[in-house]
Amino acid sequence: MILADRLAGASTDPVWWSPDLNGPALPPLGQDGACDLAIIGGGFTGLWCALKARERSPDQRIVVLEAKRCGGAASGRNGGFCAPSISHGISNALARWPREADTLVRLGFENLNQLEEDLDAYGIEAEFERSGKLTVAATPWQAEGLKAMQAGLTKFGRKSTYLEGQPLDALLNTPAYQAGLWDPNYALVNPSRIVAGLRRACLERGIEIHEETPARSLKPAHDGVTIHTPRAHLRAARVALATNAAVPLLKRLRMAIIPIYDYSLVTEPLSDAQLEAIGWVGRYGIADSGNQFHYARKTADNRILWAGYDAIYHFGSDRGDARLQRAESFARLMGSFDRVFPSLSSVRFSHAWGGIIDTSARTTFFAGTAFGGRLAYALGFTGQGVSASRFGALTMLDLLDGRDTERTSLAMSRSWPVPFPPEPLRYLAIRWAQRDLAREDLTGHRSLMLRTLDRLGIGFAS
Ligand SMILES: Cc1cc2nc3c(=O)[nH]c(=O)nc-3n(C[C@H](O)[C@H](O)[C@H](O)COP(=O)(O)OP(=O)(O)OC[C@H]3O[C@@H](n4cnc5c(N)ncnc54)[C@H](O)[C@@H]3O)c2cc1C
Repeated sequence: MILADRLAGASTDPVWWSPDLNGPALPPLGQDGACDLAIIGGGFTGLWCALKARERSPDQRIVVLEAKRCGGAASGRNGGFCAPSISHGISNALARWPREADTLVRLGFENLNQLEEDLDAYGIEAEFERSGKLTVAATPWQAEGLKAMQAGLTKFGRKSTYLEGQPLDALLNTPAYQAGLWDPNYALVNPSRIVAGLRRACLERGIEIHEETPARSLKPAHDGVTIHTPRAHLRAARVALATNAAVPLLKRLRMAIIPIYDYSLVTEPLSDAQLEAIGWVGRYGIADSGNQFHYARKTADNRILWAGYDAIYHFGSDRGDARLQRAESFARLMGSFDRVFPSLSSVRFSHAWGGIIDTSARTTFFAGTAFGGRLAYALGFTGQGVSASRFGALTMLDLLDGRDTERTSLAMSRSWPVPFPPEPLRYLAIRWAQRDLAREDLTGHRSLMLRTLDRLGIGFAS
């Protein structure tokens, strides 16, 4: 069957979205007013921030302002891999913050456990499953990379299993990969169910959420910050900025992140026989270990989500909604799906969508304050924010409360990523780095330019 036929009629919305999940839109902010805490952005980071603020302050007026609908951006468009990490993995922690790697790794595991506890405590049914992750290697040098990854996990007391041959086939039977690393520590979630559950929990606790309410600008004053929205102004004693990949309202943040588009396909529901034929019998997620990597998982009704590889940057950091659909990326994804799963090369795809990843040059979030501590921000989660966003939200609250905590004392949170250069250098540098990363995937050779960027603490990943 030709590619276009397999995609005919596919929804352009994420598979996670369903009209009854969130109910009708909440009314925009219509009247001037004042509050104790305003949170700008209604994704994971903003909603966790609101809910955790309510735990700390039962009586405060807390208001969330969301430009569109809660979960309409990255939090409702991602793959739902819920990492036991706040540092984009152990090797990133070791490479960038060797002296606090112990702490970062421990906090990453604690954060995932606490996230699961919070979902239980708030009755959020998010299809959370601690089903693990299989990372696979297509080349000998990627297999060496898996061994290094295993050494990192072992160093921190985490079990994992290196697999080749029959034991690998038993988890994924495909000609495409020659080695794998089984990591039982990962979880998977339905991301939109987390958003819907957090949103509901916030509303039940008296937190006001205004959708279709973009914050246009911020004006600091001695006792707070005035937020300008299209219909009304909100005076907030404190503000948390949780706007992820959007153009940051604070100018100083604009060089720290770039918008990278990432695309996903989802198949029609597959039968047990189809899944057995590819050896994928469990519920674990799968990712390959190229610089340009694919990730895959099952949905609750046994569709396969197949995503990643392309990481598209548009000149001028363009963030247009039209770019959320990209025929070229969908075709490339279908081609790689067929190479990995030849027996499924006639299945149809029911969903095809894109999303924007807020990429920082060190692939982890960073946090800080502005306006004399009256505003805090946390962004730059790159492609690993499903769990880390909860940690970023707590870091913002600690900063706004003026608390000295383990979270606020991390060099990772406190330090800034290396800024991206202005255009046209930005576009050219990204294209150059991507070309070298693609070559490394083919040859195993890391170019001089990439090694220099490594030394400067500059990375590029989705
Ligand atoms: C395709 C894709 C796949 C991914 N896969 C994974 C994965 O498998 N695992 C993982 O850990 N991470 C993944 N990520 C990353 C993860 O989704 C994000 O890190 C996370 O959702 C960030 O949450 P957030 O609340 O900070 O951002 P968002 O969900 O983007 O929320 C920010 C919100 O702020 C709103 N906003 C912006 N500007 C304004 C303004 N001026 N006024 C009011 N509101 C504003 C936006 O409308 C948006 O709703 C993926 C991301 C994408 C795009």
